[in-house]
This record gives sequence, C-alpha cells and structure tokens, in this order.
Amino acid sequence: MAISNHLATVVKHGSKAIGFSIGHSVDVLRGRYDVVIVGAGISGAVLAERFASVCNKKVLVLEKRPHVGGICYDFIDKHGILVPLYGPHMFHTSYENVWRYLSAFTGWLPYEHKVKSCVDGKLVPVPVNISTVNDIFGLHIQTEEEMVRWLDENTVKIADPQNSEEQALSRVGPILYEKMFRHYTRKQWDRWPNELDASLLKRIPVRTNFDDRYFSDTHEGVPANGYTRIFENMLGHKNITVLTNVDFHYVKKELRNYEVLIYTGPIDAFFDYRHGKLQYRSLRFEFETYNRQYYQEHTVINYPDDEVLYARVTEPKHQTGQKHHLTTIIREYFTWDGPPYYPVPSPQNRAVYEKYRDDSAELQARGVYFTGRLAGYKHLNMDQAFKEALDLFHGITAAG
Ligand SMILES: Cc1cc2nc3c(=O)[nH]c(=O)nc-3n(C[C@H](O)[C@H](O)[C@H](O)COP(=O)(O)OP(=O)(O)OC[C@H]3O[C@@H](n4cnc5c(N)ncnc54)[C@H](O)[C@@H]3O)c2cc1C
Repeated sequence: MAISNHLATVVKHGSKAIGFSIGHSVDVLRGRYDVVIVGAGISGAVLAERFASVCNKKVLVLEKRPHVGGICYDFIDKHGILVPLYGPHMFHTSYENVWRYLSAFTGWLPYEHKVKSCVDGKLVPVPVNISTVNDIFGLHIQTEEEMVRWLDENTVKIADPQNSEEQALSRVGPILYEKMFRHYTRKQWDRWPNELDASLLKRIPVRTNFDDRYFSDTHEGVPANGYTRIFENMLGHKNITVLTNVDFHYVKKELRNYEVLIYTGPIDAFFDYRHGKLQYRSLRFEFETYNRQYYQEHTVINYPDDEVLYARVTEPKHQTGQKHHLTTIIREYFTWDGPPYYPVPSPQNRAVYEKYRDDSAELQARGVYFTGRLAGYKHLNMDQAFKEALDLFHGITAAG
C-alpha cells in the first residue's frame, strides 16, 4: 500500500502546528529523531514528554488514530457536552510520584467515584457493602459484626475455588452471585463463570461497613479540563513531533537513524502475528443525548441481569461537573469485534503472549522497548500505565 495513504495529519512539528499536507508528512517522518514512539496514549505520551524535557531528545510520536490520548481521549460532542469517546475514565492512585507528575499537566476537580447496580429494580451499591445486602434482602444490618456474621452464614465454604463461580460463591454467596455477578460476567467474557479461571473473580471486593466509594486510593480526581488536554500539554514540548493517522506498521521502513524505539501498540501486531493472534474483549459504545439536565442519578449504573443487553450506562456530566441543559449518556455493550480492550485471561493466550514477550526482550539490546496495556497484554489502570512508563524511562536512562 502506498505510504501517502497512511499519512494524513501532522498535528504539530516541534513547536509549530502545521496543517494537513501529505508530502510534508513524509518529510517529517523521514527526519532525524533520537526517539521514535508508537502510540500517543498514556504510555507513549509519558515517554515522549520525559525524553524531550529531561534528556532534550528529539522525539517523533506516531499515532494511528486521528487523535492523541489513546483510549482516555475525550472531546466536546455536537451538543457541547464533554464526552469520553471510549467510555469514562476515573483517575485514582496511591502512587505519590504519579500524582505529582500528572498534576504538572492538569488541575483537578474533586470527585469520589460511586457505582450502582440495578438489581430487582433497585439501585444498590457496588462493591457489595452493608447497604447492598440490606436493600436486596430487606434486612437492617447496622454493624460490621452483623455483616461479618451475615457473610459467614450466607457464603459457601470452598477452601480452594477452582473457577470463578466457586470463587464468587465463597465471597458473596449464591443469591448475590446470581443477581449481581453471574450474568454480568457472562456479558463481559461471553462465558459462564464456572468456565472461567478462579483468578477472574478472585478480588470481588466485599465491604463489611457502609463505605460506598468504588476506590480507596489516596488520590482521586477528575482532570479540570478533561483528559485530552493533559495529553496536549504533555506532547506540547518543542522537541516533540506528533503524527496522527499514521500506522507504524505501514511507515516503519521510512524511519531512519533513531536510537530508541518505544512501542505501545498490540504486541502480536508488532511481530506480524507470527505466534498467533491474542484475544481481546471489546466494547461498543452507544451515545444518546437527552433534552434534560440529567438522565440518571449516578455516573455509572451496572445492569447485571441477562435481559438487558448492555452492561452499563454512564453519564459523563456527573463526573465532569459540566453544567448544561442537555445530557449525553453512553450505553456499553461487550463484543468480540472492535478495538482491543480487555485481554482474555486463558492459558492459551498466556502461552502465546509469553512467546511474544521473549521475542520482545531480545530486541532491547537494539534499543526497542515495549510498554503499556497492549504491548504487555494486560489490564493496567491509568496510574499503573503512568508508573510503568515512568519506570521504563528511568530504566532506559539509568542504563545510559
Ligand atoms: C474500557 C476501558 C475502561 C477503562 N477505564 C479506566 C478507569 O476508569 N480508570 C483507570 O485508571 N483506568 C481505566 N482503564 C485503563 C486505561 O485505559 C489504560 O491504563 C490506558 O489507556 C493505558 O494507556 P496505553 O498508552 O498503554 O494504551 P492506549 O491508551 O491504548 O494507547 C495506545 C495507543 O497506541 C496506538 N497504536 C496502536 N498500534 C499502533 C500502530 N501500529 N501505529 C500507531 N499507533 C498505534 C493506539 O491507537 C493507542 O492510541 C480502562 C481501560 C479500558 C479498556
């Protein structure tokens, strides 16, 4: 395929924003760079920013999507509402260095994330806490001791759970499992929990108090001007050139002279799928705008029963605090088609990934590094992705 088909937009070249120009893009691509980075999500943006500002290196960032920010990208929709294109992202961390680093690129709005699940027509807190049990079972548990006793009497004693169903039964008991986890898990993974590894539902959090916060990290907040602005601020350094709408795999032969290549895309694609394709679950997002202030009372409502096809409905205005007379909501459907979101945890995928990981380790000696959720074939929360990228930067620069 001709290279020009894949070079559409030059976002910025050094400190100069330059417009659409295919010929110019090819020249930019063939320029002299110290570091080439594939992907302008968290992982790529952190490394670009660090190499540019700490080491004064010239950095080229290639991004195949038409925007920066990876799947954290948000934008103002045609109704004027700030919405996340790939579903809402909640930032939370207990890593002090990540919070400090990120706070150099954004201010924060205070936010405490809470999730409700629609069970028997009632909205109950997730993770399970005393209110969840009281609302579903019509009980009046008031103390931790009573909740511990309830769990003891209602969960199934399984010493060594062999699959996710046994794991859930031992954590929350059969009724909560059926109402809150069984069908939701099937929607998410297209398998019943008894067909899934025990590790998947290992960490179902259960609280023995009334705490209804979803996260319990030291820091939690919403970026004051949205996520995309953070990436624009990080990539705004004069040493960084960003090309969007450019797929690395189509243009790699044009690149020359770089010392370091950092790859944050899917690891199987880098190696041309030579050990096979890694499986992902994806999501389809359905956006709808309503002529009213709010659609629902919470940012996220889960729909764990099998009769509702979508898994959850999210309403960004609750998170961003935006004042607007309209509201946009997003319905999320799990699918097999679409962009890679959730690595499928199975022994087969693990074995294939390990082959790619070994191949990638061999390339380090040639200055090629892999990082991020796609290159590592693992779910990373945003703060973990920031931390992994910062650690990689320290590792590369410490090694000289
Ligand atoms: C549905 C979903 C919801 C999430 N919600 C949260 C949340 O609420 N809170 C939280 O902490 N974390 C959340 N996360 C995790 C968070 O999204 C990740 O931590 C973060 O996106 C990781 O950044 P990354 O740069 O590694 O990957 P990405 O954001 O995927 O960035 C990789 C980039 O590389 C580009 N790329 C790939 N291949 C090529 C190529 N060949 N050429 C050029 N560019 C390429 C991609 O287009 C992409 O932009 C969520 C994840 C998912 C899947």
